[in-house]
Amino acid sequence: MNNIIDGKKVSEKEKENLKQDILENNLSPSLAVIQVGDNKASNVYVRNKKRACEYVGIKFSELKFPENIEEYILIDEIKKLNNNDDIDGIIVQLPLPSNLDAKKIVNYIDPLKDVDGLTYENVGNLVVGNDCLVSCTPSGVMRLLEEYNVDVRGKNVCIVGRSALVGIPLMHLMLNKDATVTVCHSKTSDLKEHTLKADILVAAVGKPNLITEDMVKDGAVVIDVGINKVDDHLCGDVDFKNVSKKAGLITPVPGGVGPMTVLGLLSNVVKTYKKKRKR
Ligand code: NAD
Repeated sequence: MNNIIDGKKVSEKEKENLKQDILENNLSPSLAVIQVGDNKASNVYVRNKKRACEYVGIKFSELKFPENIEEYILIDEIKKLNNNDDIDGIIVQLPLPSNLDAKKIVNYIDPLKDVDGLTYENVGNLVVGNDCLVSCTPSGVMRLLEEYNVDVRGKNVCIVGRSALVGIPLMHLMLNKDATVTVCHSKTSDLKEHTLKADILVAAVGKPNLITEDMVKDGAVVIDVGINKVDDHLCGDVDFKNVSKKAGLITPVPGGVGPMTVLGLLSNVVKTYKKKRKR
């Protein structure tokens, strides 16, 4: 099908560009990942990040702590990384165990090293349209749209999901590019009423088959951020089989937004490294 947005291909091309940039310009960016506990999904995500970093030439270090770590010790570790000139990017792998206050902890990361774009300073800068570090999945979505020449200006964009990680930063990125944005969530009374108006529909919920064919306008661009495991295979939030017959462009799961998220992280690390050198 020629309406498929190939995130894997785009991210591989961009990774090659980053790798070349790092090699040719003798850059030495580095990322530190803090992981608490032994969440299985987090282990996979951290491993993928490590592999991607090492592929492009970003130094990767992982700090793994037990689930019962005291909050002040974790904060102390973040402060050490903030003060370490050899570290350009820091991420705290989420989710954290429920005994830890994730928002508070993440906000101890130096905003200049906050490559997940989650500190209040970066979020605030995004809201007012300043240059800042932006959360990796939303920036990956924007990059994909750009690659496929989808101009969001003046378009009706419907984002389903309002998380701080995906839906909300994406809303701001879209607004900053002059889209007209509707954000739907679990309390939206008639989801279909909104999705049907969308020229660009983004699903970021975590519910398989939430978006069905009858909820999508003919020719719409459909971006599926969801990652769900059903019977040992991965799928998104969109009924891909049927919606892809109607959509102008659509992302598959896997192979759509996912690879762009990792790319967003790598790009942010290189960005922080280059900014540091300018200071
Ligand atoms: P979240 O649980 O923080 O947020 C889910 C959002 O969906 C909430 O805002 C909630 O109000 C909304 N929601 C729940 N039920 C709904 C319904 N019936 N109708 C409309 N809205 C509803 O999740 P998240 O972190 O934003 O992640 C969302 C999905 O995206 C998950 O499947 C996650 O695995 C996936 N994800 C993928 C990537 C990637 O790289 N592709 C990155 C991050 C998250």
